[in-house]
Amino acid sequence: MINQSFEERSVAARAEQLGVGYIDIGLFPFNPDVLKIVDRDESMESQAMPFHQHGHALKLAVVDPEKKETQDLIQRLEKDKWEIFLFLCSANSLEKAFLLYESKFLNLKHIAREKHFAEQEQNLKDQEVDIEQLQKEIAHIPAKIALNKIEIAALRARASDIHIQPEESRIVVRFRIDGVLHDILELEEETAQKLILRIKYEGGMKSNITQKPQDGHAVLAVNDRKVDLRIGILPTPTLESIVIRILDAYKGVLDFEALGFSESMQKKMNQSLMFKNGLILITGPTGSGKTTTLYSMLASLNTPEKKIVTLEDPIEYHLPGVSQSQVNDEEEYTFDTGFKSLLRHDPDVILVGEIRTLSTAHMASEAALTGHMVLSSLHTNSSAGAITRLRNMGMENFNIAPVIGAIFAQRLVRKACPHCKQKIKIQDSPELTSQYELLKARYGSLSVPAEVIIPNGCVKCSGTGYKGQTVICEGFVVDQRIRQMILNGKSQDEIENELRNHHQFHSLLEDGLEKVADHITTLEEILRITN
Ligand SMILES: [Zn+2]
Repeated sequence: MINQSFEERSVAARAEQLGVGYIDIGLFPFNPDVLKIVDRDESMESQAMPFHQHGHALKLAVVDPEKKETQDLIQRLEKDKWEIFLFLCSANSLEKAFLLYESKFLNLKHIAREKHFAEQEQNLKDQEVDIEQLQKEIAHIPAKIALNKIEIAALRARASDIHIQPEESRIVVRFRIDGVLHDILELEEETAQKLILRIKYEGGMKSNITQKPQDGHAVLAVNDRKVDLRIGILPTPTLESIVIRILDAYKGVLDFEALGFSESMQKKMNQSLMFKNGLILITGPTGSGKTTTLYSMLASLNTPEKKIVTLEDPIEYHLPGVSQSQVNDEEEYTFDTGFKSLLRHDPDVILVGEIRTLSTAHMASEAALTGHMVLSSLHTNSSAGAITRLRNMGMENFNIAPVIGAIFAQRLVRKACPHCKQKIKIQDSPELTSQYELLKARYGSLSVPAEVIIPNGCVKCSGTGYKGQTVICEGFVVDQRIRQMILNGKSQDEIENELRNHHQFHSLLEDGLEKVADHITTLEEILRITN
């Protein structure tokens, strides 16, 4: 591990000399769609692995760009119309990537059979699915049973969604677990077609439509537990592509502490929820857990004397005592039109799933100004960035300043697997020492822990070293001083600096570093997520 870190640093230095990128490929989450562009043998022979694709642009990690097999591969890919962007990686990290890639397939059986379940999941105990067995029999059993087995396996594997994706030469079933897609099964076309028909039937969709996207909804009953499934179908040139989102209401709404928010962030959140009116925003990219936090906020505001209404896309949890409604583009019940009808209910608290347009932003701020508490989310990276985003949408400073109550930005990070995490003294690792020195130069007040943990990999975490997720967060409550700065058109950097100077702000990275010091996750994971 330690020698490898020296290697990583020298590879990074060489990449800089060559004017190409650098990547520690062993840490990069796999995207099976990209991996399949170069088959495994060719990849091993040429010491190269594709890791990111956008349009015709393909990012390729290589150990040695001079190597003949590598150059052959690049030529072959360029002939196939790929525009190649080279990244240097170490031989060690490539090897680690190959190992991880293989472990994905081998250990999935264990994921689906895993015995460690929280109490409320006890009733899944007698529902075991053997993935290897299912792969053997799936072409011969009724589609209804096959689908049920896939769904149960996904629940047991703690998957957030199931994908059925047609590819050039095969059809693959994948589970997303802790944010990363894993290959589970391969299907013959005939089996896939039967399965798709069954999914359409259960989801209340039209079986004869194959050229248009469709949305559906189904409920999976497992013993006495009910799980909502949101189904999306997209046409592709071959078969349809399917995503089933698992909305497990049984998980319930967790409080801020259970979600993993640090004490100081919990304090700020609770403080912002004390306001009588105002706009509270959660920001972050898709899949950063914004909705879950919004629900948690609603649950803490949900008292009998308050009237709470929501407009969501989709409704992910049902909250007792809350009037929830769902955006429906087909019936022109959008965030915009829906908002108007929400206000007729004379609510105290309004949740609008996301602010996407200027008119929704205006309605939200108008409502916040006229005595309502409005909770919503925005698609931006940082907390102060929300102000820039609202300005770019066309909001004026005098519309923004009086209504914003608090802004938070968050990300989900993987927690280190408790079964295989390994402690290491920072002073024993030159790599960690130098990383912390860099971080210290950036954040003077940073206290460096004596020990941190590094990922290892075991059967319980299918070789990834990680299991489960937690949250990292930055954010601030808007006080009079910040309000004035927004009104004066100060930039997000100026606002952030002002908050920092008054010890009212720490970044996502700093919040993450606290979780590293607490041995909840690793420095690698925090750097990957906040990079
Ligand atoms: Zn493990």
